Amino acid sequence: MAATYTGFKSSVAAAAEHVKPTVAQTLTKHAELPLSPPSSAGSDVDAAEFEKRYTEDWNGQYRFAPIKEHIVSRAMTSRYGKDLYDTAISDVVIVGAGSAGLSAAYTLAKERPDLRITILEAAVAPGGGAWVGGQLMSAMVVRKPAHHFLQEVGVPFEDEGDYVVVKHAALFTSTVLSKVLQFPNVKLFNAVAVEDLITRPDVLADEPGKVRVSGVVTNWTLATLAHGLQSCMDPNVIVAPIVLSFAGHDGPFGAFCVKRLVATGHLEALGNMRTLDMRSAEDAIVNQTREIFPGIITGGMELSELDGASRMGPTFGAMMASGVKAAKTAIQLLDRLEVEEGEVVGWKKDAWKKDAESGLQL
Ligand SMILES: Cc1cc2nc3c(=O)[nH]c(=O)nc-3n(C[C@H](O)[C@H](O)[C@H](O)COP(=O)(O)OP(=O)(O)OC[C@H]3O[C@@H](n4cnc5c(N)ncnc54)[C@H](O)[C@@H]3O)c2cc1C
Repeated sequence: MAATYTGFKSSVAAAAEHVKPTVAQTLTKHAELPLSPPSSAGSDVDAAEFEKRYTEDWNGQYRFAPIKEHIVSRAMTSRYGKDLYDTAISDVVIVGAGSAGLSAAYTLAKERPDLRITILEAAVAPGGGAWVGGQLMSAMVVRKPAHHFLQEVGVPFEDEGDYVVVKHAALFTSTVLSKVLQFPNVKLFNAVAVEDLITRPDVLADEPGKVRVSGVVTNWTLATLAHGLQSCMDPNVIVAPIVLSFAGHDGPFGAFCVKRLVATGHLEALGNMRTLDMRSAEDAIVNQTREIFPGIITGGMELSELDGASRMGPTFGAMMASGVKAAKTAIQLLDRLEVEEGEVVGWKKDAWKKDAESGLQL
């Protein structure tokens, strides 16, 4: 005769059955607490009472503190709204949170806590291509001296002489990402695409009619990708004296900023990324990371599309070093620019004196 199935119970659960509260008992217990949770401001609940509002019990009595649905909405929207308001004028906008963009953000945020840094990432998950190593394998190869950046951020590696290996690329990306997000002067908007650049007449230009990049035009990535389906989904804007572009070479928005500058006639042509040559490619990307057009500094794989530089394949040191160089270049520029409400209005009075003293080449 077939046994009657009464539902699976683990042996631990079966043994504990007699002490487990029923659903009705749990609901009654929850109803004893006032449902409206105290807001952080103006709470009428005594601080000592807070801990009684939840229970961390792994034997069937785990109970969350009470909440109402609209409180969750307001906790998110109030902060996101403030972030949008505050970052409408930024000191630096970073396009793309891949390995190069995150390395730049880390360096900028650490060296200059006074700067408001806004990162825009089209994907839901920041990190770009650096969640896996080459050919979708785990390990990340980094040629020296870029291991200094790994040491700076606190990523462990195996030293192989001329190069080091991080056991999983995701260890690099998750570490640098967590560090970047902890800086109080950094705001990351993910799932948000840069769909255009802002340009203004360039007050620093030698001749009239020239423009400089003065910020970015953004939209929800899904809206940007759906412009062909619905007309006039207007974007948002963020103004900033300096934009750092690390849009990479691949994916739906690969090399977005340099392609847009070429399409609008501001840059002459794309060089298009060339065939692989690890030995020369990494040096070239780092050394050529620069202000490619007034107001915009480009690095990482996006630069290889502009310069026609060789691809380097599965080595990542150039992305980190390019990000660091872009951050340093941005700081040098910002220290020399007179900026009002996010717009460049001239050179600082002593800008050239500073350059002469430092021997700087911008
Ligand atoms: C599968 C794979 C293939 C690789 N192929 C190559 C190769 O061919 N050549 C090579 O040298 N290295 C390659 N690499 C190595 C490595 O991934 C890249 O060198 C590195 O990821 C590039 O870093 P990046 O920061 O420049 O760009 P990415 O890691 O590509 O990051 C760019 C980021 O910018 C975001 N973004 C782009 N446009 C916009 C926009 N308009 N608005 C907002 N965000 C935007 C993207 O979503 C992305 O997160 C590859 C790696 C992998 C895993």
